[in-house]
Amino acid sequence: MTPFAKAILEWYENYGRKSLPWQQNKTAYSVWLSEIMLQQTQVATVIPYYERFLERFPTVVDLANAEQDEVLHLWTGLGYYARARNLHKAAKIVAEQFNGEFPRDIEQMNALPGIGRSTAAAVLSSVYKQPHAILDGNVKRTLARCFAVQGWPGQKKVENQLWHYAEQHTPTRDVDKYNQAMMDMGAMVCTRSKPKCGLCPVASLCQANKQGNPLDYPGKKPKKEKPVKETWFAMLHYQGQVWLEQRPQSGIWGGLFCFPEHPDAELNDLLQHRGITDVHINQQSQLIAFRHTFSHYHLDITPILVDLSKQPDVVMEASKGLWYNLSQPEAIGLAAPVKQLLQSLPSELHI
Ligand code: SF4
Repeated sequence: MTPFAKAILEWYENYGRKSLPWQQNKTAYSVWLSEIMLQQTQVATVIPYYERFLERFPTVVDLANAEQDEVLHLWTGLGYYARARNLHKAAKIVAEQFNGEFPRDIEQMNALPGIGRSTAAAVLSSVYKQPHAILDGNVKRTLARCFAVQGWPGQKKVENQLWHYAEQHTPTRDVDKYNQAMMDMGAMVCTRSKPKCGLCPVASLCQANKQGNPLDYPGKKPKKEKPVKETWFAMLHYQGQVWLEQRPQSGIWGGLFCFPEHPDAELNDLLQHRGITDVHINQQSQLIAFRHTFSHYHLDITPILVDLSKQPDVVMEASKGLWYNLSQPEAIGLAAPVKQLLQSLPSELHI
């Protein structure tokens, strides 16, 4: 065992996290579920989602048998919805092709939708103590600082160097504790903006600490200005209900429900496009525009609230959609800005 690994394991015994919900009664299913939820998301945010998921879907087969709408509904608010769609796809594969048991072979595990090399390694090392190295965001940061790895980890060359250090120091004994300790180190000690070098078990081995510049590692992604796009949401409201349409599976908010969207404020075009002609509008008002930011661009959204005095039934045929009851909401996945808009609607519109 390397001095680095030894120091990390000793630290874990005293300070590592051991009482997180997914650390109790571990199964490949529960650890996998937590690993997917924890990608780009903080532990405190994940815990209630994790508990709700496990209560509703106690086994991977239960998850595989669920409707995608329900899975997305339970995921609403966690973001990065491709994770939820892949979670569901992977559960179906495990149920159908592996008899409901996660494969124990890392290549087979890695081949499941949404499971990368590090996630596969995290599950297999945690549950079956297989000696695989992990390399999530927290581990990348600690290793980049400790071994002064220059450059942005999104570049293959830099990532390969980090994998090299990860493998070099991952022990064969206590690998489950070591991998958990590395995640904890990144979350609790070697944090993004204020690393606690004075409390760090590997401070004497750390090159960034010696150089006095931990914040220079890992290297930043080369900056590119995000483009800004615009869209309009038509919030068709009729007697306590609003019209929502399911988005195509690919593209933004894939599979989630959203207000009809249009590239400009011309509501007539939007209605015509859907073959809606018998529209009886009580009142129409433009709400305050707001910005929703994706990883690749900003989307400026202007909502238009349209109160109808008659329910146009043509809409029902135009696409997969539904009249969403505001006081008795359906269990469906909602795009984040839709959820936000629904919450801001005045209560008199709920009836
Ligand atoms: S000494 Fe500081 S920078 Fe180095 S690994 Fe520890 S916390 Fe991170």
